Amino acid sequence: MDCIFCKIIRGEIPCEKVYEDEFVLSFLDINPVMPGHTLVITKEHHANILEVAEGTLERLATRVQKVARGVKDGTLADGIFVSTLSGEAAGQSVFHIHFHIIPRYENDGLVNWPYKPYAPGEREEVAKKIKTALSS
Ligand code: 5GP
Ligand code: ZN
Repeated sequence: MDCIFCKIIRGEIPCEKVYEDEFVLSFLDINPVMPGHTLVITKEHHANILEVAEGTLERLATRVQKVARGVKDGTLADGIFVSTLSGEAAGQSVFHIHFHIIPRYENDGLVNWPYKPYAPGEREEVAKKIKTALSS
């Protein structure tokens, strides 16, 4: 398969490994937002969080927590940012499920999300659409 993360799992592309077990591999992102920016990926190929089976995601989540604790302690970070992107529009560039674990520090200069308030009535409307989708 032509997936770059599957190639890393097979050892065809090197990586800076920080953790591995029978289910996941964790290694440093080649292009870090902060030193210690780490990825956790499943050994099995799954596209993203929307497509992975619930049980697989639960197992993955426990590893993400374990590695996040290690990243925090190992980098002496003040906080940890965990994210996973799904779909090109969200910025996903490698279509093999992975969680980013990024050390954050007080006043580290990273820009936070551009928060903006809802227009009147918009919040209720959006919530209704999501609730309808969840109940169908
Ligand atoms: P995405 O944009 O899909 O959420 O994140 C993919 C991440 O994989 C990017 O942060 C990118 O730097 C990282 N990445 C892509 N190719 C490689 C690689 O060959 N080795 C490593 N270590 N990271 C990679
Ligand atoms: Zn893959």
